[in-house]
Amino acid sequence: TETDRRYDRVMLKISGEALMGDQGFGLHPPTVERIAREVKSVHDMGVEICMVIGGGNIFRGLQGSAQGGVDRTTADYMGMLGTVMNALAMQGSLESLGIHTRVISAITMNEICEPYIRRRAVRHLEKKRVCIFAAGTGNPYFTTDTAATLRASEMACEAIFMGKNGVDGVYDKDPAKHDDAKRFDRVTYDDVLQQHLNVMDASAIALARDNHLPIVVFSLDEPGGFRGILQGEGTFTVVE
Ligand code: UDP
Repeated sequence: TETDRRYDRVMLKISGEALMGDQGFGLHPPTVERIAREVKSVHDMGVEICMVIGGGNIFRGLQGSAQGGVDRTTADYMGMLGTVMNALAMQGSLESLGIHTRVISAITMNEICEPYIRRRAVRHLEKKRVCIFAAGTGNPYFTTDTAATLRASEMACEAIFMGKNGVDGVYDKDPAKHDDAKRFDRVTYDDVLQQHLNVMDASAIALARDNHLPIVVFSLDEPGGFRGILQGEGTFTVVE
């Protein structure tokens, strides 16, 4: 309901891999739909939602250029185009659930989606349209984590929610490899930077820190998890 919600406007960042299911590559429609339902359940609470989806399930610039054939900047543009495909898949899934959406790209491709115009995006949010920000920051050498932090700052989101697969927060070491790994309830941006904790890349963390934007790391594996986290339930780590 409208009363038990703690946030008015949030950014949900997921990686491209979150959409590939067990396939190991590309888009898995039932997985896309599962995440769309998570978003719907938060949208139903009246929360204004921004989304950034990575592109790692399709193409990663650094890896792509290391394999040869294209240089780093070209490979990064290919990576950004991958995020547009993911955004369109999420848009389709959300719209089939009856939610109005806009895909807003940092690189203009007017036939496919809207260009990024800040005031226009804010207006969409006020009208309860889910805004899916695509093509990262539009610049090579950045990541979609930085894009999520940038757009969340521009849209005045109250927090960034990092929906993870297989992990429910920030740990002192990799919980998949170490049985004694300890999850933090709360860490500072500087802890993350100094201890190289696995949250976001350093430029994204620094941008969040400078803009006082809390980052909530949680697991997207639990059904209803996103909604629960917004109500302060479940396990998560806050970076602030
Ligand atoms: N990318 C970029 N600039 C940006 C955002 C992304 O060049 O502002 C490229 C980069 O090559 C990256 C790829 O797009 O490897 C996919 O994004 P990312 O690795 O952040 O996706 P995720 O790991 O979240 O799936």
